[in-house]
Amino acid sequence: MQTLAPARNLPMRIGDSWLQSAGEYVKVTNPSSGDALARVPLSTRDEIDRAIAAAHKAFRSWRDVPVVERARQLFPFTQLLEKNREELARLVCEENGKTLADARAEVRRGIEMVEFACGMPSLLMGDSLENIARDIDSQTIRQPLGVCVGITPFNFPAMVPLWMYPIAIAAGNTFVLKPSQLTPLTAVRIGELFAECGFPDGVFNLVHGEREAVEALVCHPDTRAISFVGSSAVAKSVQAMAIAHRKRVQALGGAKNFLVVMPDGVNESTVSGIMSSAFGGAGERCLAGSVVIAVGEAGERLVPLLDTACKRMTLGSATDEKTGMGPVISAQAKARIERYIDEGIKSGAKLVHDGRAADAPKGEGTFLGPTVFDHVDPKASIAREEIFGPVLSIVRAPDLDSSIELANASEYGNAASIFTQSGGAARKFSSRIETGMVGVNIGVAAPMAFFPFGGVKESMYGDARVHGKDGVMFYTQQKVTISRW
Ligand code: NAD
Repeated sequence: MQTLAPARNLPMRIGDSWLQSAGEYVKVTNPSSGDALARVPLSTRDEIDRAIAAAHKAFRSWRDVPVVERARQLFPFTQLLEKNREELARLVCEENGKTLADARAEVRRGIEMVEFACGMPSLLMGDSLENIARDIDSQTIRQPLGVCVGITPFNFPAMVPLWMYPIAIAAGNTFVLKPSQLTPLTAVRIGELFAECGFPDGVFNLVHGEREAVEALVCHPDTRAISFVGSSAVAKSVQAMAIAHRKRVQALGGAKNFLVVMPDGVNESTVSGIMSSAFGGAGERCLAGSVVIAVGEAGERLVPLLDTACKRMTLGSATDEKTGMGPVISAQAKARIERYIDEGIKSGAKLVHDGRAADAPKGEGTFLGPTVFDHVDPKASIAREEIFGPVLSIVRAPDLDSSIELANASEYGNAASIFTQSGGAARKFSSRIETGMVGVNIGVAAPMAFFPFGGVKESMYGDARVHGKDGVMFYTQQKVTISRW
């Protein structure tokens, strides 16, 4: 198994080459051990301008390559991703801290995004109508936009970039990716695999950095569309900046996801669904179930089952196959999550299981066990704010209507789930809940390549969601031709 050598200086991809930056470098840390994995540069303004210029130049000819040929070039990419699947999953584990099982699932979802983009000839088809008026025909075509930009978060280093550039590039655009500075290794490695597939120079570029790099990419006159995934505050500011510079933008933000458990929904499969939703990826998922609303007497039976499941959860290094939950991303993240646990206690909620007391590996790893609070006041910060860590709040509600009302009061609207045996309850919930994604007896209403993904309210700034047909729509513009011969 090959992984990048420790403390390697990560390169940027500009035009035809992988290059070292002249900018400052910062350490990328393995959260399981505290060891340095690599050093990532903060690309300079000049380097970012050069990446955009390379993409801009490549667009002139890439847009004219027939879509069948553009899509065909993605076939070897899927094969290379398959071949290197395990190496990629290990890289995700090392830099992000999620378990191997979670990382393998992430890489699989990412490969599906490329498979979806391979169908671009069908996806790009427009509409036509003969004789829309006497002797007049009309048709729509979809055309690429130009240079598209992807800005991605730390928590899905393989999958989130693949939500973006395979679709954008197959649709005829060129791309500049800026992965998270906390987890850039996987994006670089996947970029290396992409570069092996023979795409023309400048079609795919990769730069690094934080706020300044993002501003340079969003505000540059030659970038046309911005795809952002990260926290709501940054999503909001990126959307505003993009609109001010007349860019197309989709900015996916944070979340607070509610899981409603009906009295007829308390069973083993529900407990396992809640556990993986709340504690998978150490709760660092935008689809993490963060609040369980236990309806009627569901709570009395559910809480002890969750407590038992938490006691069985093993903390450990992400790359160890036996690990049930890995570390959170950083010491700052751990301190923030612990502050929320303190706030939960102060709010008067009952601390059922305290993750701070969990048996964690010794050393510099940033481990925190699963925490469960019961009888949480819906107004408490742990029930309202995005914690982005392994903390689950249980709120009690008398019936389905009040649980929907509670969930809909959230400022976020990414995903929500219901656990029930009643088709009527599931139908009412799915219809009335104000979220972009809905799970029925599924804890994580996961993004699947062939469907669009995104939330509502503070969870998404913009209109077109990522991947699926929305992704194709986002990366293309329509033209309508009306003709008389
Ligand atoms: P983040 O907002 O800190 O960073 C996201 C990206 O923005 C990174 O590339 C980062 O370098 C850049 N960035 C950070 N601060 C910036 C600033 N002030 N100006 C411009 N750019 C900036 O998010 P994160 O901590 O990497 O990821 C976790 C967040 O992402 C959570 O809120 C989570 O819910 C959200 N997320 C949402 C989805 C979704 O689909 N809605 C998916 C994954 C993660």
